Amino acid sequence: MTNLQKIAYNNFILKYRQGEFLKKIVKTQRRRVAEMSAGQGKSGLSKQELKGFKEILLAQKKQLEGALHQSEVSGRDQHGDAGDHGNSEQLVALTVREQRRKREELTMVIGALERIEKGTYGQCQSNEDCEENGMIASERLKAMPTAIFCVACMAEREAKLKNK
Ligand SMILES: [Zn+2]
Repeated sequence: MTNLQKIAYNNFILKYRQGEFLKKIVKTQRRRVAEMSAGQGKSGLSKQELKGFKEILLAQKKQLEGALHQSEVSGRDQHGDAGDHGNSEQLVALTVREQRRKREELTMVIGALERIEKGTYGQCQSNEDCEENGMIASERLKAMPTAIFCVACMAEREAKLKNK
């Protein structure tokens, strides 16, 4: 090989190696992007976050069901024998309003759990154009796991209700 040929050959090898190296980087990056999007639901929440919300909601469901059940039991007791249950704090009946509110909460919690199963949890359910791109911020969900509207849409709805 002449010197010129050698240089050309070395350049070729160098470029080939660089090419392979670049291909590898692109491949790795593509895989990372794929992994990242696989870990996230449509809502933009990670699987880990969804799992956390599910645990919170299941605990709330259990607690609400327990309170409602207990209330029903103690309500029956009151009708039965005229209460020797005054000493038992556990059997304090919920007022009708409290029961109604707890049932509403339970319905919200069950709805949220269903949305987790369907993969729509964390999506803003506003029909109008959502300012937050149809996503409820995870901070809002942490404060209120049963939220179905993002902050902007909720504020809009509340304003509209006030004007009615
Ligand atoms: Zn919204």
